[in-house]
Amino acid sequence: MIRRRLPSRLAACLLALLSQAAHAAPQFTLRGVFEQGAVVYGHADPAASVSLDGRKLLLTASGDFVFGFDRDAGPDAELRVSQPGQGEVARHYVVRKHAWSIQRIQGLPPELVTPPPEVQERIAAEARLIAAAHARDTPIDDFLQKFMWPAQGRVSGIFGSQRILNGQPKQPHYGVDVAVPTGTPVHAPAGGIVALAEPDLYFTGGTVIVDHGHGLSSVVVHLSRLMVHQGDRVQRGQVIALSGMTGRATGPHVHWGVYWFGAHVDAQRLAGAMPGGR
Ligand SMILES: [Zn+2]
Repeated sequence: MIRRRLPSRLAACLLALLSQAAHAAPQFTLRGVFEQGAVVYGHADPAASVSLDGRKLLLTASGDFVFGFDRDAGPDAELRVSQPGQGEVARHYVVRKHAWSIQRIQGLPPELVTPPPEVQERIAAEARLIAAAHARDTPIDDFLQKFMWPAQGRVSGIFGSQRILNGQPKQPHYGVDVAVPTGTPVHAPAGGIVALAEPDLYFTGGTVIVDHGHGLSSVVVHLSRLMVHQGDRVQRGQVIALSGMTGRATGPHVHWGVYWFGAHVDAQRLAGAMPGGR
């Protein structure tokens, strides 16, 4: 009698445990790798509260969220997910290190490698404008779109390389460069709201920042002509500017950078290989 009842009791207990576990663990999924320069997309119950390293993340109405890892992020990250009435799950991840290359550029005008003292104030004011644009946490879901290259051509500079300008080590290259002639149409890599449109910044010349929502933004620089204004709503693929070589550029190209708030991430990972294998 006892022998026959035990297995069914055991099964009932197991079932209860399993359903309890499924109930207690907030369900979320992640797409992407935990690596320097990478972007990770997540999905959770829209009512969940999600944070990465203490920063609370916006969720779309469907429960989508995004975060990214700076070129120098790490060595680990903590993701916390909780749903109303349920426990919180904290997961620790190792952020994989990436071996970045070294890029040497010679022959730059000396005043662009070491800006003269009289422009320091201008540079600081422009840095504040750019930082404010990257700090936006806008509840639009364009960040979920598949990103496209703002221009097509030969990739002449990659993300993350340490730059040595005229022999002086400088900040890493935080974008991907596409060599195209001046006047080439530059497309919005994804939809969003124009967070900054400045025709003449000291380092980057003609500069447009598109806010794709949830902290993810694109910057395109060295532009010869801007075709949008701050506050404009733009669609993926819309022509937002013409390329050029304004600011600190050694030749005509489009520099495209992607940010998750202040974190520099690799735009190339979002757009995939350049069409035509260039
Ligand atoms: Zn560049």
